[in-house]
Amino acid sequence: MAQRVAVPDGANKKTSRVRVAVRLRPYMDNPDDKDEGPCVRGLDSQNLEIINWRNATETVKYHFDAFHGEQTTQQEVFVSSVKPILPHILNGQNASVFAYGPTGAGKTHTMMGSSDQPGVIPRAVSEVFKLVKAKDEDEGWDYSIGMSYLEIYNEKVLDLLSPSSQDLPIREDKDKNILIPGLTLTTISSFSDFDKHFVPASLNRTTASTKLNQRSSRSHAVLLIKVVRTQRALPHRQQTGKLYLIDLAGSEDNRRTGNQGIRLKESGAINLSLFTLSKVVDSLNSGTAVRVPYRDSKLTRLLQDSLGGSAHSVMITNIAPEYKYYFDTFNALNFASKSKLVVNKPFTCETVAVLPVKRAKEDHKAGGSGT
Ligand code: ADP
Ligand code: MG
Repeated sequence: MAQRVAVPDGANKKTSRVRVAVRLRPYMDNPDDKDEGPCVRGLDSQNLEIINWRNATETVKYHFDAFHGEQTTQQEVFVSSVKPILPHILNGQNASVFAYGPTGAGKTHTMMGSSDQPGVIPRAVSEVFKLVKAKDEDEGWDYSIGMSYLEIYNEKVLDLLSPSSQDLPIREDKDKNILIPGLTLTTISSFSDFDKHFVPASLNRTTASTKLNQRSSRSHAVLLIKVVRTQRALPHRQQTGKLYLIDLAGSEDNRRTGNQGIRLKESGAINLSLFTLSKVVDSLNSGTAVRVPYRDSKLTRLLQDSLGGSAHSVMITNIAPEYKYYFDTFNALNFASKSKLVVNKPFTCETVAVLPVKRAKEDHKAGGSGT
């Protein structure tokens, strides 16, 4: 019989940071908007700047673990921010990838993508199958891959693979593993097997959202890929690695009530999970994690064993360049980075000629904001 063994470098390791990447989507011309040009732009692979609303002759510069400019492909985002963490889930470690940012900034594009531009989710799932295939031969372990797909809406946990289900409870076992009894866990044997379950469940969610007042922008879509490996020989050790891939609720919900700051929590929390996630990430990344408030919301409780601790976590903050997103962008950046610098240099006069990518964009906008 298989015997459960605690992951060796699990519990006692020091709390790890959440890596933060920012992705700027391309400018989208809308005939109804006045063409004001972008209010934010990249500087290099780790820095970006945004106009300072307090003083338009200044910009505010931010530094991140990675910055992905508007020309960045889906493949590049995957390779730089997600691919490196995947091997860990085959060794019984946990990982989580989040898309954060205001509605319309590109979270779903980043996570799901489209059939011609697949996003992080299909790429990560394919890669996990590839890694397992490569491993199977030479090591004495059998691997099995399963998926769960759930939504957190109004602090309710709903099983997207079993749409008629009710709010599910979140529990912790004696080894501090977080689990949801009753949540569908479907074994998948190939990518097309995954797609067969994932696509209809995603469509269900989208259809429901149009009826339910933009539900998809207020709910968190949480895909779990679980890799269990069992030693063929005695003592048949077993290790479980979990990968969470999450398309978060729009961060503008946060701001609407967040304008009055602490109000958010008392007001019944339009989005308690998102608000708590920001506190958890803040607490992990500020290095002063006296008490990480995982238990304060459903999302963070669910992620307790897969965010911080020995887990590998990446937050991809999606932002949009148009002025109408300005305050949402500003808030998203302030949440994502503790490091910012006010630079006394007018945004519109700066020439950005370092990266070929930027040059292409400047040419495109010539005569507009670029001069
Ligand atoms: P969100 O999920 O954050 O609300 P979406 O992913 O739906 O945002 O993106 C809004 C729109 O912008 C969609 O039409 C999407 O296809 C487009 N979009 C987002 N990011 C990119 C990108 N990097 N390149 C091209 N189009 C993008
Ligand atoms: Mg979306």
